[in-house]
This record gives sequence, C-alpha cells and structure tokens, in this order.
Amino acid sequence: MTSKAPCPQGESLQVFKGTFIHATHTSPMETLTPLILGVNRTGKIVFIENVDKEEELSQAWHFQKKNIRVLREREEFFIPGLVDTHIHASQYPNMGTCLDLPLLEWLVRYTFPVESKFKDPKFTEDVYTKLVKRTLRNGTTTACYFATIHTDSTLKLCSIIDNLGQRAFVGKVCMDLNDLFPEYKEKLCESVVETKRFVAELTGREYPLVKPIVTPRFVPSCSSELMQQLGSYASSEGLHIQSHISESRAEVELVKSLFPECKNYTDVYDRHSLLNDKTIMAHGVYLSNDELKVFQKKGAAISHCPNSNISLGSGLFDVRNALHHQVKIGLGTDVSGGYSPSVLNAMRAAIDVTKILGFQSSNYERLTYQEIFRLATLGGSQALGLDNVTGNFEVGKDFDAILVNTNVPNSPFDVFTDDTQEDIFQKFLNLGDDRNMVEVYVAGKKVVPFPNA
Ligand SMILES: [Zn+2]
Repeated sequence: MTSKAPCPQGESLQVFKGTFIHATHTSPMETLTPLILGVNRTGKIVFIENVDKEEELSQAWHFQKKNIRVLREREEFFIPGLVDTHIHASQYPNMGTCLDLPLLEWLVRYTFPVESKFKDPKFTEDVYTKLVKRTLRNGTTTACYFATIHTDSTLKLCSIIDNLGQRAFVGKVCMDLNDLFPEYKEKLCESVVETKRFVAELTGREYPLVKPIVTPRFVPSCSSELMQQLGSYASSEGLHIQSHISESRAEVELVKSLFPECKNYTDVYDRHSLLNDKTIMAHGVYLSNDELKVFQKKGAAISHCPNSNISLGSGLFDVRNALHHQVKIGLGTDVSGGYSPSVLNAMRAAIDVTKILGFQSSNYERLTYQEIFRLATLGGSQALGLDNVTGNFEVGKDFDAILVNTNVPNSPFDVFTDDTQEDIFQKFLNLGDDRNMVEVYVAGKKVVPFPNA
C-alpha cells in the first residue's frame, strides 16, 4: 500500500472505503479489502491504504470521517473502468442486426451504407450521443473509436465524448479504394489533408481525455500511397494508429493478392510505417507466429474481438499464443460486427473462445476468467499505451472506476449467504449488466448516472 506526499491543507478529496478488485502486471486479479482510497481534485488516486491507517490519513489529508463514502460490505465493490480497444461508433445503428454474412460481404451490404449516412449532422448527433451514453452506462471508461470518413461528423463525436466525460481515442476513417461500394470512399489527397485537419482541430480544442488516432480502415481499402503518407504523418507527429488485420480467411487471401511482394499481412503495414508501439490492430485471428514476433518486436498491440469474430464467422483468435509471444492484448466489442456494446459481453465471449480452443487440443492452456478480467482493464490500457494513466487502482493513476452494486432492484442475479466475495464477483462478470453499474467514474468525475438524468 502506498500514498503520495500529502496535499496542501483544504484540498477537496473524495475518499472511499470498502472492497476494490483489480489486476496488476503480476497478478491477474486481486481483491483488496477493506481499503481506503483517496482521489484528489484532478482525479488522481493519491492514497490507497489499509483501513487501519484511516486516522493517520485523515490528519495528513485533512478529511473528516463523515465525508468518507463507505461501501456496503459484500453488496458493493469497485472495479477499474472497462477498456474497449475497438469499437465502430458509426455502426451503432446496425448493432444487433446484420450478422448473417461474412466480413467482406457484410461490409458492402450493411456497413458502408450505414457509415455513408454520417454526412448528415442531425443523424450524427443523435446516433453518437446514444452510443456514448450506452457505452458509459456499460462501464466503458476508455474507448478506441472508429468513426467514418467525414471529418466534421467525427469532430462532433469528439465533442459528445468530451461532454459526457469518457476517455477516448477517435479516428477519422481513411479509405481511398472501394470498388464494391464506390460512393463511400475519398480521394487520396483528401484523405490525408482531412486527417491532418481532424488532428489539428481536435488538438486545438484541448479536450483533456479525447485524443486523435490515425485510422487507415484496412489494407484492401487503402492504396499503398495513402498508407505510406499516413504512416509517415503518424510517426512525425507521434500519433497513435489503429486498423484491422487478419480478420477473415478471405480478407487475408485478398491482401496476399494485392501485395504479392510482401511476406504477409503484417509486412504490408510494417513496410508502410504503420506498425509501432503506438499501433493497435483489431482481430489478428490468422496471424502466424512469425507475424506475432514482429508485433512483439515493434511493440504493437492486438484488440481481441471475440463476439465479432464469432458473429461474422471470422475465426477464433488464440490469445494464449499471442501472450506467449509477449504481444499486448486488449478486448474489443467491435460494434457492430460484435452485437453487444458491453465489455462484460466481450469477456464472456473471450471465455467461450478459450474454451472452444481447449476442446480442439487437449493440452491447450485455457485462459482463466481472472486473466480475461485483466485483458478488459489493465491489458486494454496497456494496448492503448495508457497503462501509466489508467487500468487499475494505483497511486498516481486517474480514478477510472465502476461502483458495482449486486443488490439493485431487478438485479440479473442473486447473492446467497454462503457466496464468497470471489463468487459474487464471478456472478457479476458472468451475469451482471448496466443495472449493477450504479456509478461510473472517469478521472475522478462521476459520469454515470448522467448529470441531468
Ligand atoms: Zn472493426
């Protein structure tokens, strides 16, 4: 347990006392109880100590006992905010539908048409407001969003996120090739110029928690020149990069035919300067061990999107193998290839995938639910290069947290006297939903319930 040097007298602190469950680099799940945790005015955790230090802390930090928020034993506990490392904000209208086709056909039939609608500002505002509220209610404190090719509409998404208080990376989608749906693409120069305008405008707005991310859609919809220009722009500005890789077999074959001179899919991005320690690639289902080694060497991360991989029939990503290769992994909902906006759902789908891989090979080392909990929190923050800011409860990090209450009206599960704290936590992971997430905090600020709800 640690704490920072005490603050000047009179600084307003939020102080919580009770059970905290989180992951660390050395332990996939730790239950800390009973603890006392302080958050300062800037939203940072300034102490986390055993409760027997309460008296000492209250003198050092000048808070009174009556101002401590005491969680109800067993019924209430804090977990870190959930991190969604891959979600298409613009596909939200389709969420829960259109899951009957494989990736490439799905893009043409359903996805490009809905994304095209975001040139309309009214439609944009309505959809993005609903989406960001939905993800926040589901405990997503950090999200890595794809928007569309429309710059102003993507900037609107940023202002909605800022207004509602979520932490996010947001990408204006870049794509200069689209033979199958020609009305949804942009010219090469436009794509680059608009990306620069998007980054400049977003940076100029100085939103504290919303950052730009360079977003070539995926290899089949980007020319080599576009990828090269985006790669060198991202490197020169030190920007994060997101895209898709090796999601389905047909897509991998297509990329092979488009870039026969490249060793594999990973090599295409690598040759275009798009693979570094600020890169996150979604899926990676068909990456070879050689490609995983390149990911490890470059420090690039993978967003595991199990619901989407099953829903679109793409395949099963082997997280264990990627972890053995020391590749950074987070979880993604991949709305709307994935039909749920909830990272809890992504965790459950990840558990199903690891079990199915276990059926296929008797000596397969399945992931534990604790390891998957770590992927959804600390792992995601690490994959996005934010693990010094968020992901767990450590002094100096921002307080991004969900207050879970297992005894709410109409709770989706019941707790019995014999249940241990771990049983209760598992019930929440497997059966809980937004009804149990009674408060959500980002950088110390309560963002759920919504201020005017
Ligand atoms: Zn995606």
